[in-house]
Amino acid sequence: MATILSAQSTDARVNLVTPDLFAAYPTPEALASASPERVEELIHSSGFFRAKTRSLMGMAQALVERFDGEVPSDMADLVTLPGVGRKTANVIRSVAFGLPGLPVDTHVGRIVRLLGLTEQTDPVKVEAQITGLLPPQDWGAFSLRLILHGRAVCVARRPRCEACILADICPSARVPVLAGPARRSGARAARPPGLRVRKA
Ligand code: SF4
Repeated sequence: MATILSAQSTDARVNLVTPDLFAAYPTPEALASASPERVEELIHSSGFFRAKTRSLMGMAQALVERFDGEVPSDMADLVTLPGVGRKTANVIRSVAFGLPGLPVDTHVGRIVRLLGLTEQTDPVKVEAQITGLLPPQDWGAFSLRLILHGRAVCVARRPRCEACILADICPSARVPVLAGPARRSGARAARPPGLRVRKA
């Protein structure tokens, strides 16, 4: 439910909305038979409240009708639920079930491109390429790390390359890069073959 609410909203806003929503509808059965107007009222401040209400109630109804009120863990089942695409399904798999799942949001897609790990722009193709580079048990944590990195350091409008721990290996770094002993001696660090520095 929180992942569906997060579209076009902030974590802080979602966290304000969810306590009352969860208290009012603690089970899929309760949400499936809710008054849409009441759900809209509860989630209004998260934005796109009508579409989100349709997704939330549609998802709850599908869980009751097709999955005995239980959230499935298979990707193929999850993406049949209203409001649930691959990103949301991967969040559910990795966070709720502890299963392999690499959610690709805007931060993840942007940063893996900056790091030169893919040139794909379609999130599904990004996911396919990056999951091929990592062991399945690391997919969820890798996505979370990139999301945090995108918020704290590699911010979209002005990446803070000068403070980035990945600057040594990032082909998009906008700073001259020094590393380890080279940094101390004043010499420029060697880059892996094929990596380049983009001029600021
Ligand atoms: S070096 Fe700059 S562009 Fe590369 S990941 Fe770090 S902040 Fe982003």
